[in-house]
Amino acid sequence: MSEFSYRNGELHAEQRAVADLAAVVGTPFYCYSTAAIEQSYRAFHGALAGLDATICYAMKANSNLAVVKTLAALGAGADVVSGGELQRALAAGVPPQKIVFSGVGKSAGELVAALEQGIHQINVESAPELALLSQLATARDITAKVALRVNPDIDAGTHAKITTGTKANKFGVDIDHAPDLYAVARDLPGIRAVGIAVHIGSQITNLPPFHAAFARVAALVSLLRQQGHDITRLDLGGGLGIAYRDEPPPSLTDYAAIVRETVADTGCSLTFEPGRCIVGNAGILVSRVLLVKENAGRRFVIIDAAMNDLTRPAMYDAWHNILPVVEPDPKAAPTATDVVGPICESSDTFATERALPPLAAGDLIIFTGAGAYGAVMASTYNSRPLIPEIMVRGAAHGVVRRRQTMAEMLAQDSLPDWLRTSAGTAAKPVEVS
Ligand SMILES: *Cc1c(COP(=O)(O)O)cnc(C)c1O
Repeated sequence: MSEFSYRNGELHAEQRAVADLAAVVGTPFYCYSTAAIEQSYRAFHGALAGLDATICYAMKANSNLAVVKTLAALGAGADVVSGGELQRALAAGVPPQKIVFSGVGKSAGELVAALEQGIHQINVESAPELALLSQLATARDITAKVALRVNPDIDAGTHAKITTGTKANKFGVDIDHAPDLYAVARDLPGIRAVGIAVHIGSQITNLPPFHAAFARVAALVSLLRQQGHDITRLDLGGGLGIAYRDEPPPSLTDYAAIVRETVADTGCSLTFEPGRCIVGNAGILVSRVLLVKENAGRRFVIIDAAMNDLTRPAMYDAWHNILPVVEPDPKAAPTATDVVGPICESSDTFATERALPPLAAGDLIIFTGAGAYGAVMASTYNSRPLIPEIMVRGAAHGVVRRRQTMAEMLAQDSLPDWLRTSAGTAAKPVEVS
């Protein structure tokens, strides 16, 4: 059940009226439900019952400290893709032994940080990375535990920008050449190659690509073992999709059945890196209608959130359900409406000819499914400050990230000598909310 629903005609996040929260931080803002995060984590965890599995939450979906800490308290580890995410994971209390470092391009500094923290595993994606890691580890008298990420050449059937498992993608090592890289790894002094990692894409809603990819990985385990490699771990990545509209979500039970069928009898310990399916439907974006404008027969609702706040529609043609915070009168006929942000770009469009109930200036609306790849992808384009994030638990709320101020944004810029004049006095920034 959604934790975002109408009660007495008003949209609530758990037991908190969304309009109340808007009064606390102003709009736009993100709002997360603790109960929804916990439910989706427990559902994923429960589906894997009986398997030797660790869930390393993919922090890039939503790396807010409060979100990561909520998951860490349930026993989750973390999958990080940068030194910054590594620091966030540690700050949120994720034990290093439950952190996996993924990514196609890690800097020497990032690898050193991972080595010095003694994290569970580094997922290596290329021969040059393997050589660099060995050198960095040897210099510190450390042996790096490594999984090689293979590219199984499977089309995940998802949006082109988030498919990662075909030969045309930059990710991983071609699975047919993986044995060569394992042979190289065996001879490197700073490396212990203990596993295989695979991640074929994101928002995957039909399951056969997982089956094909995991089956190829299981076959690779047998081959590598024949060649004398001691493969004890498999990292099966993330990518399980969620329902953004009203379609049925992919079945966790079926996903887990595929895991059991393909890799369970390798005897390897398993790591999973779900991101979106843990937090995606646990967050909303709340925005206010600035004005409504009719233009050449089209109805535009212009809101105070924009593509810099929630990028997915502009970047991936993504669909988010839009609901008014005050429950609409069931008798009010929906109208075809374009919902757009104020940014000077046509891609700043959240919905086109969407059937929506009547909306007027000042009304609050929400976008559902905004918990993953929402706040983390925000930018300050158009000098729009980063928006706040609120977490709700029952009737309580916490501001888990406050709104960036204009003063903070301006303070990051500085002028070169030749533009500094004694006559120029900086205007005092005006905070707009
Ligand atoms: C993005 C990513 C994930 C998480 O993907 P979701 O679709 O959010 O589950 C997991 N592992 C790797 C390596 C990734 O790049």
